[in-house]
Amino acid sequence: MPRIAYVNGRYLPHGEASIHIEDRGFQFADGVYEVVTVVGGKLADEEGHLTRLARSMNELSIPWPVKPATLRFIMREVVRRNRADNALLYIQVTRGAAPRDFRFPKDPAPSLVLTCRRTAFQPASLLEKGVSVITMPDIRWLRRDIKSVSLLPQVLGKQKAFEAGAFEGWQLDPDGYVTEGCSSNAWIVTADGTLVTRQPSNDILNGITRLSLLECARELGIAYKERPFTVAEALAGREAFISSASTFALPVTRIDGKPVGDGKPGPLARRLRQAYMDHVGTPDPASIK
Ligand code: PMP
Repeated sequence: MPRIAYVNGRYLPHGEASIHIEDRGFQFADGVYEVVTVVGGKLADEEGHLTRLARSMNELSIPWPVKPATLRFIMREVVRRNRADNALLYIQVTRGAAPRDFRFPKDPAPSLVLTCRRTAFQPASLLEKGVSVITMPDIRWLRRDIKSVSLLPQVLGKQKAFEAGAFEGWQLDPDGYVTEGCSSNAWIVTADGTLVTRQPSNDILNGITRLSLLECARELGIAYKERPFTVAEALAGREAFISSASTFALPVTRIDGKPVGDGKPGPLARRLRQAYMDHVGTPDPASIK
């Protein structure tokens, strides 16, 4: 069965799906995106992702390519046509094709692309061992709250992490505080047991998984603080983990080669991950053999 993509009104075999060479997404990275996880056939945190997509488009004055209700329909249709039970659904909106000019086109025809890739998510072994991260300066622009397709710093950061044998890169602001991962939010549990993650601002992308995990923490009565933290504080703490649509909550056991706490995944990350899966309403895909 071929993979099916959606491009500007058409469902096409993946290899035949294409976009105009003067699409502003291609020319200027003038576009935004979302990644929605499909777990057990369910769209995880659909509302949150669509709310953030609307916000990103609004911040950049990109008009809706279709009505929100139509987008919801297309999302389901792409999942259905790919028979995707466990998958990552990718949604991209750009300001569309127009003769190359920095200024906005007068009558933009925004482009809408959806693709769906099946995934097995992380194997259980990764959850049992935890992952390692390396740190790097945050070289991104000053509007990281917008989920823009301009991802070159993250491309370089992820490659650097990969070459170092790490799963993720943690980016540091000029004062040495962790902003976030290249494609995830960063969390720690301090030595006194407080859950800490950086507060939303223009410095980070306010992760939808992050928001849901904070909701889970409130429901579970877990104390948390939204504030910046340093690598030294993370290493002196009990636990660290990352969150994103594709990793849910994934324990970090090494930072720049040094162990976090006792070097083993901690209980709070596990509890929050379980609570997140309950919130989505599906078993953890890592527990499905
Ligand atoms: N920060 C960055 C920079 C990201 O790219 C992502 C994932 N796209 C996240 C955080 C996590 O966001 P979410 O939980 O919405 O996937």
